Amino acid sequence: MDLSFLFDLTYLVSATLFVVGLKRLQSPATARQGNALAALAMLIAIVATLVENDVLSWTGILIGMAVGSLIGGLAARMVKMTDMPQMVGIFNAFGGGASALVAAAEFVRIQQMGAPMATGTSLSIGLGSLIGAVTFTGSFVAFGKLQGLIGGNPITFPLQKTFNALLFLAALALGAGLSGAFALGGLTPLTVFTVFIGISLLLGVLLVIPIGGADMPVVISLLNSYSGLAAAAAGFVVGNMVLIISGALVGAAGLILTIAMCKAMNRSLANVAFGTFGGESTTAQVASGEKPVRSIDAEQAAMVLAYAQSVVVVPGYGLAVAQAQHELRKVMEQLEERGVDVKYAIHPVAGRMPGHMNVLLAEADVPYDKLFDLDEINDDFQRTDVVLVVGANDVVNPESRNPQSVIAGMPILDVDRAKNCIVMKRSLSPGFAGIDNPLFYLDGTMMFFGDAKVSMSDLAREVREA
Ligand code: NDP
Repeated sequence: MDLSFLFDLTYLVSATLFVVGLKRLQSPATARQGNALAALAMLIAIVATLVENDVLSWTGILIGMAVGSLIGGLAARMVKMTDMPQMVGIFNAFGGGASALVAAAEFVRIQQMGAPMATGTSLSIGLGSLIGAVTFTGSFVAFGKLQGLIGGNPITFPLQKTFNALLFLAALALGAGLSGAFALGGLTPLTVFTVFIGISLLLGVLLVIPIGGADMPVVISLLNSYSGLAAAAAGFVVGNMVLIISGALVGAAGLILTIAMCKAMNRSLANVAFGTFGGESTTAQVASGEKPVRSIDAEQAAMVLAYAQSVVVVPGYGLAVAQAQHELRKVMEQLEERGVDVKYAIHPVAGRMPGHMNVLLAEADVPYDKLFDLDEINDDFQRTDVVLVVGANDVVNPESRNPQSVIAGMPILDVDRAKNCIVMKRSLSPGFAGIDNPLFYLDGTMMFFGDAKVSMSDLAREVREA
């Protein structure tokens, strides 16, 4: 009986579930369900593929699935939220590596059969292994930079871009030679392929090392897109429809996310990939007292907050580092019990990954309807009594309005337009962009120095007693 129709139908169901799952990821309220749907879609696709094809070793596959599930489950439980970009980096590396291996296996199989390779097949194999290998090593370098295993500073050498461009051209030439359309100095196809893979692996390293550690989340998002493209190419290699569709979805979603991140920072992708970012810190000058700031303690902060009518919280990277989200929610609940109107303003690139603050606040059970995007809330700041900035810096830096600044044009939350602003952080150190923040020295700004979690616990006690 011809079951191909049934398999095609199963793949269609799986592909549809991928799309619905992605759609559900758009809101924190439905994101978990979206993730579960996409995981179910992947399970359906894997089972259908295994049943449709001749499996060499069920034992090997089942052991692989069990080990993979165990590692995935443990990683999801153990990895801290602030380390999530690194984890995605590692997963991208494995995704890219797997696609390159699929392409390589198919290349070797065709060579062993001695059959001529169709242009389409050699193109898919070439693209799958090139993008897969670049993603593999590039993602490991990105992981190493974020994890602090290798220095976060850009690693550069003379004529680096020219060298990279030549390597890329060499990879393209060797890739074109894979089909055997033209001879490459009498080299065997397997030798050509091995050199081609070697150059691709090297390219992955060389393309990522000149990018600073702070830009790694954007690089990881881009490499995520690459891993999708590599999977789609692998799908063409083995003629698997659902792999092509899921790869294309990952490729498109990763690219959209990368562009959205760049847009929220008002930087081009080229600037992230080839430019340098960050300015000289003026903290030393500030610390020596040349610019005065107004510093307050928990008791004073509690008084200001408890007698306000409206409070807007602006969370940032420091909140995630300190893991102060639960304490923050408790303080805000105390204020609400006193009749204060509380809202949370979410900047699209606050933290170190898109949606970082939404996830953090959802973890602390902050209701979604209290979260407002930049566009929704920016006009409210001038009518707000107190803004509480918790571990945020660049996303509230008015320097972005200065055309000479490195963050010129970056959309910010206009907290400096509020009547009062309390900034919780440990020092006057700059944020990710490495530049001083004039907000700290404004008349309406009060600096509440300390670790956000400790400060927030102190604040909870003081608000209770206020
Ligand atoms: P920033 O990195 O600008 O600032 C975070 C601040 O948190 C620091 O100034 C630090 O000051 C403070 N901090 C650190 N640890 C603690 C702690 N334990 N307690 C209290 N405060 C602490 O963060 P933002 O969220 O404002 O901005 C994010 C930046 O990251 C933007 O520049 C954005 O472009 C960039 N970025 C974001 C991505 C995303 O997708 N979200 C991706 C790539 C880049 P101190 O040391 O004085 O305490």
